[in-house]
Amino acid sequence: MEKTFLMVKPDGVQRNVIGEIVARFEKKGYHLVGAKLMQIPTELAEEHYGEHKERPFFGELVEFITSGPVFAMVWEGENVILTARQMMGATNPKDAASGTIRGDFAVTVGKNMIHGSDSAESAEREIGLFFKEEELVSYEKTMNNWVN
Ligand code: ADP
Ligand code: MG
Repeated sequence: MEKTFLMVKPDGVQRNVIGEIVARFEKKGYHLVGAKLMQIPTELAEEHYGEHKERPFFGELVEFITSGPVFAMVWEGENVILTARQMMGATNPKDAASGTIRGDFAVTVGKNMIHGSDSAESAEREIGLFFKEEELVSYEKTMNNWVN
């Protein structure tokens, strides 16, 4: 089953919306298989955001994502990678539709609440960066029979 890496950024943790964000993915019908509150070390932040190394905002981005704890998660489900991106909304909250996480909770691109993998390759890479195999839990929920 498809998996994706999602993370409530430091602004979301500080603003007490971990629960609300988790609730959206739970209610949608996705299956939580791993989660932890953690402080990201600088080297991990630089590797995670490596594709943006040359961008002018890279330093600011690494500084922000390491400025306080994040809530890292792995979610599983049909088309979860793309659908989670749609539920997050556009990168810049000013372009994010109402009803999306960024559209409802965020104002500025630097503090846009949530990270989500953008492809199957990124999902695999990011899950591997943030979680050990034994931190992912495989379990059945009978409720999933009412989703798929
Ligand atoms: P996404 O998080 O939607 O995948 P990107 O991968 O393009 O977006 O960028 C990673 C993160 O870098 C964004 O979520 C955002 O917080 C930050 N970012 C992107 N563009 C800018 C920008 N122009 N100025 C400041 N921060 C930015
Ligand atoms: Mg991205």
